[in-house]
Amino acid sequence: MMFVRRSYAVDLVVCVALGCDMFDCVFPTRTARFGSALVPWGSLQIKQKQYAKDFQPIDPECECPTCKRHSRAYLHALFKSDTAAMHHITIHNISYQLTLMRSVRQSIIEQRFPEFVQNFMRRMFSSGETYPGWAVDALASVNITLE
Ligand SMILES: [Zn+2]
Repeated sequence: MMFVRRSYAVDLVVCVALGCDMFDCVFPTRTARFGSALVPWGSLQIKQKQYAKDFQPIDPECECPTCKRHSRAYLHALFKSDTAAMHHITIHNISYQLTLMRSVRQSIIEQRFPEFVQNFMRRMFSSGETYPGWAVDALASVNITLE
């Protein structure tokens, strides 16, 4: 199944809801090479100018070594001269994916997966964008409604 990619994480959560057990396993590492850091509200393009003087971590709530040690500004500057920036972002993106899957798993065990999906989608689209129709339809087919 191939979805129009707005966010890898949205694809992943919708796939779990539909019972698929396969997803794009290289996305967190491949996207890191282009400076894209995955976050609960979408992704940050670390190469963009806006991060040059942004001294917070990629995700202040992330426990990964990259977020504990490096700022967005550091990674932005490093990206211009050293491939180590890609490695730091890769570590963060893999950590993000593991944390996301752990949260999905825990919500299934606790029988609150539909609420997890609703909260996940609300945060992912918190900037006021409307949910993509394919996600709304796919989730509705498994009785998960998005308001
Ligand atoms: Zn991190």
